[in-house]
Amino acid sequence: MGRGGKPPRHLADLSPTERRAAVIALGQPGYRADQLARAYFARLVDDSAALTDVPAHARGALAAALLPPLMAPVRQLTTDDGWTRKTLWRALDGTRIESVLMRYPDRVTVCVSSQAGCGMGCPFCATGQAGLTRNLSSAEIVEQVVAGARALRSGELTGGPGGPLRVSNVVFMGMGEPLANYRAVLSALRRLTDPAPSGLGLAQRAITVSTVGLVPAMDRLAEEGLQVTLAVSLHAPDDELRDTLVPVNTRWPVGEVLAAAWRYAGRTGRRVSVEYAMMRDVNDQPDRAHRLGALLRGRLAHVNLIPLNPTPGSAWTASRPGDERAFLRILRSYGVAATVRDTRGREIDGACGQLAASG
Ligand code: SAH
Ligand code: SF4
Repeated sequence: MGRGGKPPRHLADLSPTERRAAVIALGQPGYRADQLARAYFARLVDDSAALTDVPAHARGALAAALLPPLMAPVRQLTTDDGWTRKTLWRALDGTRIESVLMRYPDRVTVCVSSQAGCGMGCPFCATGQAGLTRNLSSAEIVEQVVAGARALRSGELTGGPGGPLRVSNVVFMGMGEPLANYRAVLSALRRLTDPAPSGLGLAQRAITVSTVGLVPAMDRLAEEGLQVTLAVSLHAPDDELRDTLVPVNTRWPVGEVLAAAWRYAGRTGRRVSVEYAMMRDVNDQPDRAHRLGALLRGRLAHVNLIPLNPTPGSAWTASRPGDERAFLRILRSYGVAATVRDTRGREIDGACGQLAASG
């Protein structure tokens, strides 16, 4: 396949019904679809020889049709004493994809990319600078999580003591705007949360979809009957500033984005995360903290202040610690829950949302 081609169809693109149909179309009994799903989602198989439930004569054809290779690692960078690892992948068409595996004392989170690049053009974001290359397929998204699970199973990311590790959380905070690739992201959410062995069996609440604020897609997601956490990248409480930081704000301004966030919270009962990248003297002034506090007061929301990770040549830099503390204090004075997000993988440009797929 040439550059920019379509990724091959894979088991993880298909619902259980579609998998059965695909297997039957190959002249195999429908129950082989369940055997393949068990092999991929429960045993994390990535090699047709390991399809031990399937008779040897059928393995090659089924694997070629439904478990084709999707991507290969190009580079791995480990930091935080071995607790954070970024992987740069190369898809079959040459597209570069990044994911980050982060171990915490009580959980392991995979930060996945939903697109190669991003078309939203936020000027402080490394991914936004290069524009959109293409949407990832559902399977390319799921495979980033399955690859993380394989790495944990084989004892990688072992920095420090602890028993066998499993992926517990997934955040859509890598490259791309997940709600601009809605169909593939929704299918990936189903594969990640369908009970094992038909899917990976992750808890819906342990998955966070982060959006720049695409209002119609936020409303659509609210109706899917999923309990995933929605994170809204606000970064400014006023349209004048947000127009410059998040260009899509000219289409869906702060008031509309927050209204959609509250509809999501109302429909799902889930607290919405409000992401706010702290940029020195840009959006971190006390009056902006007051405006944000007033907007969020009494709402089912939690603010994550993210210290800005400056991109090369960018005009923005991280807030002073004192300004950050003052901002937090003001928000809390409105009764708004707020914390400063940890900055895993900064030195490998692996913190979520800072992935540029360079090299
Ligand atoms: N496109 C989606 C999800 C990917 S970005 C979104 O924008 O929400 C994930 C998070 O990282 C977003 O909150 C984004 O604003 C933030 N981010 C992007 N660039 C950053 C940077 N240089 N420093 C800190 N946070 C950044
Ligand atoms: Fe895209 Fe999110 Fe980066 Fe904006 S912050 S350019 S929406 S990845």
